[in-house]
Amino acid sequence: MTARLIDGRAHAAAIIAEAAAMAGTLGVTPTLAVLVPTDDEATDWYVRNVERTAAKVGVSVRVERAHGASGAEIAIRLDALSGSESVHGVICLTPLPSGVNLADVAAHIDPAKDVDGANPTSLGRLAAGLPAYAPATAAAVLEILERESVPLAGARVTVIGRSTVVGKPAALLLLAQHATVTVCHSRTKDLAEACRSADVLVAAVGQAGLVTADLVKPGAVVIDVGTNPTPGGGLVGDVDAGVTEVAGALTPVPGGVGSVTTALLLRHVVTAASLRG
Ligand code: NAP
Repeated sequence: MTARLIDGRAHAAAIIAEAAAMAGTLGVTPTLAVLVPTDDEATDWYVRNVERTAAKVGVSVRVERAHGASGAEIAIRLDALSGSESVHGVICLTPLPSGVNLADVAAHIDPAKDVDGANPTSLGRLAAGLPAYAPATAAAVLEILERESVPLAGARVTVIGRSTVVGKPAALLLLAQHATVTVCHSRTKDLAEACRSADVLVAAVGQAGLVTADLVKPGAVVIDVGTNPTPGGGLVGDVDAGVTEVAGALTPVPGGVGSVTTALLLRHVVTAASLRG
């Protein structure tokens, strides 16, 4: 078997077109505030990527630099952005200054504007089955499965990774779709055994080649969230190339989850603008 490659870029283009159509009906320009408390190059690349996608959707991006700010200063800036009537979505980028915890500062993002689901309240609401923005990457996992018409009710799904950004919220979203979810992590005793029975396998670790063909049930759908830089300046996921011989469908890296993530972040901003009180 050779796995069908899932075209994340095509899904992203569809999401962008739908979000742009919705943005055009709002009578207000949806606006995303991006707080950047770092001078990290990869973060700058991400900001440019968000700006490019935002332009296609019709979302205005307000970038605020806060390099060198303390945790308390970042919290004050996030409070101010959350309180601004002209801002509909707020995100705080990482890496944060050492000693500053994302959950602590993100608690200062109004959940109604928390378009990347970083406030612990958003995760709690998600767990409670209440309306909330999920982190865009976790939402992208579900969006891809839905757009690919992968049945989830009653399906066995294994998620490798339990971070609050990807693994945990993805597991909650999958559970809400009635999947039977197993969550694995670095202390999982028999990873292969937990993966081999999965109809859908989600890898969100950050370790190139972790998911080898022997971990995959023949015909399974494999969603590769991992992004691992290669020495040549490229990017690979967590899934080994040999998996294409076993899986039924697979998201590539790049061109899979990452493309959909940015589109969904912007769709969340449009939704937040449409719900503004
Ligand atoms: P993270 O916070 O470092 O979490 C990694 C998770 O993997 C942890 O739960 C960890 O377990 C688990 N893990 C580590 N080694 C393992 C092993 N050998 N076997 C099983 N589980 C293991 O990373 P993250 O923020 O969730 O991101 C995960 C990956 O997704 C990274 O490659 C990141 O770059 C990528 N990512 C992609 C996007 C996108 O848009 N495409 C967005 C965000 C992140 P413990 O909890 O026990 O430590």
